[in-house]
Amino acid sequence: MSLCKEKDRMATASWVAELDKKEHKNWVMVACALNIAKNGITQLLQGKMEAWYQSLISNPPLQSLAPCTCVPGSPKCGTCVTWERELKRYHKSKRPMICWDNSDRKQWGSPTGAWEVAKLFMPTLGRRKTQVIDADTTDIGGLLNLLEWCPFIYPSVSRTVLSSARDKCRNHWAHAPKQELQDADVNTIFGHLNRLLNDPVFNADKAAQKSSKDLQDLFNHGLVNVRESEVAAFHLLRQSLVADLTKCRDDLDDVQDKVVQLDAESKKVDKTVQKDMSDVREQGDLNKEEIDKLSSEVYTAGRPDKCHDETKKVNESSRKIYLK
Ligand SMILES: [Zn+2]
Repeated sequence: MSLCKEKDRMATASWVAELDKKEHKNWVMVACALNIAKNGITQLLQGKMEAWYQSLISNPPLQSLAPCTCVPGSPKCGTCVTWERELKRYHKSKRPMICWDNSDRKQWGSPTGAWEVAKLFMPTLGRRKTQVIDADTTDIGGLLNLLEWCPFIYPSVSRTVLSSARDKCRNHWAHAPKQELQDADVNTIFGHLNRLLNDPVFNADKAAQKSSKDLQDLFNHGLVNVRESEVAAFHLLRQSLVADLTKCRDDLDDVQDKVVQLDAESKKVDKTVQKDMSDVREQGDLNKEEIDKLSSEVYTAGRPDKCHDETKKVNESSRKIYLK
């Protein structure tokens, strides 16, 4: 065997060995668990979102609005202004950062516009926005955001359960640097996902309960077909990383916008300060002139010859009065 081929064989062997490591199989197993959990909540979310949307478009002020007539480069049409005001009001964040670009506003109010409105409660979707058309085509991160910020389910899923599913499950898995997870991570993640599927919102839903059972089976028996699961895991990873990258770009754009804004504001403040300082200086000069004038008057008034003159004037006046 040539040296080159031997090197290739060794490289392949180490790559395959990485895939066979227990920790990597754990990572693949968690990907399956995330897919199972997502499939368990999809149906209920779709139904609830459609019902909420129907109630929005059947009641004032969003009822029977004219179709959007927005023209690029012009101010938004009256219909969009009303929709935006209402959606901001419904957003559960105190300071909502809505990515209006996620959604096709021409579909707001149409009978099939439910998911276009749902997308406004998700992080930036970027170029994926045209592929996200329902709960099924939305990744678990987007669905968790929708559950957190949109009031389409009341009472809503516990915030703690949602943030654990997002940060300790989905994000922890997607950002595992070597695509490896310890047994303890697997236990924690399965626990959080199970709590999500058994939250009061989902505990009477058939699909969610089937997923909860599938999750238990996976936890007890492990992966049946590792290679097939691996393909699914990489597919999910690609989807998750694209979502995170899009969000990072969006956050970066926000930061850049803020820097530009702060720069403009600081220049404005600088100008005001300079103007104030020159006013103060000018006022200082005026005051100095005033003080000099007053000092000179005081000095003149206090001079002995001046006093003498004044006394003389008073004496003369007195004499004139006496002679009368
Ligand atoms: Zn419009």
